[in-house]
Amino acid sequence: MLKAAIFNIMRYSVHDGPGIRTTVFLKGCPLSCRWCHNPEGISRIPQNIFYADKCINCGGCDKICPTGAREVIGYEISSGELLKEIKKDLIFYEQSGGGVTFSGGEPLYQPDFLLEMLQKCAAEYIHTAIDTSGFCDTDIIIQAAELANLILFDIKFFDEAQHIKYCGVSNKIILENLKALSKTKVNINIRVPVIPEINDDEHEMREICGYIKDMKNITGVNLLPYHNIQSEKYKRLGIEYKMPELSPSLRDAPLASGGDSGYSIYETEKIFEKYFKTKIGG
Ligand code: SF4
Ligand code: SF4
Repeated sequence: MLKAAIFNIMRYSVHDGPGIRTTVFLKGCPLSCRWCHNPEGISRIPQNIFYADKCINCGGCDKICPTGAREVIGYEISSGELLKEIKKDLIFYEQSGGGVTFSGGEPLYQPDFLLEMLQKCAAEYIHTAIDTSGFCDTDIIIQAAELANLILFDIKFFDEAQHIKYCGVSNKIILENLKALSKTKVNINIRVPVIPEINDDEHEMREICGYIKDMKNITGVNLLPYHNIQSEKYKRLGIEYKMPELSPSLRDAPLASGGDSGYSIYETEKIFEKYFKTKIGG
């Protein structure tokens, strides 16, 4: 039985696929998106997190922290143990048409474990979704697509140089993998994080839409608005948060204003809704 590093199991999720879902967050991601909402998911190994507001300066850091100010994020779990956790919510999946979503980090970064989990869930008739950056070997994502019911596929940029600048890697393999998936039967939901003053310009969004518009197995597009509440997490992990401060107009009206680019998420929605069922939010 295989083991993997995970950092959270979130129950009763309603934004990671249809119905009520259990979302499993696997640790490790080959990208390093500057705005990542789950920075604790990027490293494959467990990390220390420190909540300064809970620390009472007792000086006992060599023992167990009495207030929970220090915590280790990430632990190993076997596929059997994880299946047991997932099955605790079977009743909710059945009543709502939900299931389990594997997220992260990048769930395909621990491919053997993910494939084993998909097989185990399929044997129990549990609906499965994979929330992926698409950055992995093509044969792995195709194998995963043959076992999963839904792929939530992120596209951050069409422009390769921008992708390298803001996400740390080229997007070539990501776009090629999406093309390969479009030739399979799996349902794909595209998720585009709309990041003010970074990728929220008309040309970029039209390029993304142009690339996907003829892919027949795309069942919808979600435009994910940016927020910076995760900046606190970076502090607690001792990692630098490299995103710029939002301009006042974006802080006050994050959806309606396009900031300096002047291009709002509602205008982006108009581009995609010509071809796809499009929703703002997860
Ligand atoms: S043990 Fe916990 S509360 Fe005490 S100093 Fe260390 S972090 Fe702070
Ligand atoms: S792909 Fe997702 S998990 Fe990985 S760094 Fe980017 S936002 Fe974070």
